[in-house]
Amino acid sequence: MTEGLTAAEVAKAAELDAHVRAGRVLPLRLDAPRRGKPPRHWADLAPDERRPAVAEAGLPAFRAAQFDAHYFGRSEDDPAAWTDLPASARDAVASAFFPPLLSGVREQTADEGTTVKTLWRLFDGALVESVLMEYGVPGRASSGSGRRRATLCLSSQAGCGMACPFCATGQGGLERNLSTAEIVAQVVAAARRVRPSNVVFMGMGEPMANYKAVIAAIRRMVDDIGLSARGITVSTVGLVPRMRALAAEGLPLTLAVSLHAPDDELRDTLVPINTRFPVAEVVDAAYAYFEATGRRVSIEYALIRDINDQAWRADALGALLSGHGRGAGWVHVNPIPLNPTPGSKWTASRRADEHEFVRRLHAHGIAATVRDTRGREIDGACGQLAARGAPSSDVTAQSQPR
Ligand code: SAH
Repeated sequence: MTEGLTAAEVAKAAELDAHVRAGRVLPLRLDAPRRGKPPRHWADLAPDERRPAVAEAGLPAFRAAQFDAHYFGRSEDDPAAWTDLPASARDAVASAFFPPLLSGVREQTADEGTTVKTLWRLFDGALVESVLMEYGVPGRASSGSGRRRATLCLSSQAGCGMACPFCATGQGGLERNLSTAEIVAQVVAAARRVRPSNVVFMGMGEPMANYKAVIAAIRRMVDDIGLSARGITVSTVGLVPRMRALAAEGLPLTLAVSLHAPDDELRDTLVPINTRFPVAEVVDAAYAYFEATGRRVSIEYALIRDINDQAWRADALGALLSGHGRGAGWVHVNPIPLNPTPGSKWTASRRADEHEFVRRLHAHGIAATVRDTRGREIDGACGQLAARGAPSSDVTAQSQPR
């Protein structure tokens, strides 16, 4: 799937694929490389910065509310079409406040059109993906049942520096942080199709490694776009100091922690940042988040065949989570069958092992539901986002019997 990509991007994709196939593992990278900054955009401005910015551009301050209504309220991102703005002012407004941030490279759909993955090119050529999943769409059985809703899975960085060996994004390395507006723009673009009821920071990147931009983007989503903070999930490998900062923001977000192993020995290899923030500290910080916010924490657990899916590890996970008098009510485990990435030596757990894993968690009183894997066939499921056009036929292991 290299359509829409330039020759240089295709060459880079091939290089990255070769890297993954050779089984090389990247070093951890916490600091984002310094790159040219994306152009300033309306969505980068906090509410109290907007009227002064408009005045500085020589426009009457009341325009600020108009811009908010267009961009955040109606998802309109091109001032050229804003008829309530004098035609003579539109170009200047566009270049001062609404530079194009995302250009769509390609779109792939699955699940009868209810899962859409979009590859975006940013101003400097960096590529990121977002995935919009609709649920409960009448007449579309693969969208599931229940209330009609939509979840946007978005990216917070181009690439990722956390180097988890089972994750396609992690194996591509970190290119740069996204700006606040580049994150918000993914929501605005999705809302033109269907307004998301939920937003999950489970696309490319480690949101807690791009903390400032992520928090500002969340504030725009809540304060300006009107999404519910409860419907927004921030997923992290477990950057403990940032988890603690998040707990103090006063936002009732859902925190998801990518645990994947209850023991340091295994987690050190699956989630390399564990060598800095070990399991016990991560779980303590997750519990502190629950105590501070009252929000039940999600624990992500990719079930990898014969690696982390043993019954004894389920028991260890149950004991870990409910230990220290914490009880079981504060947490919810989401086991998800591994989506094997190209060249991966790992594959998803057998169904029987998956069921036993969940059964043991339940025996500890812990809520656990196996997460679905929407969009697998378009490499749009968790951990598959690589934004480098790998042929989907490379995902060979997905058809192995379980
Ligand atoms: N960096 C953040 C958010 C992005 S990944 C984090 O790690 O939490 C979103 C989720 O997908 C994480 O739980 C991640 O561990 C999981 N994931 C990554 N690769 C996967 C794969 N190949 N199969 C299943 N889940 C995967």
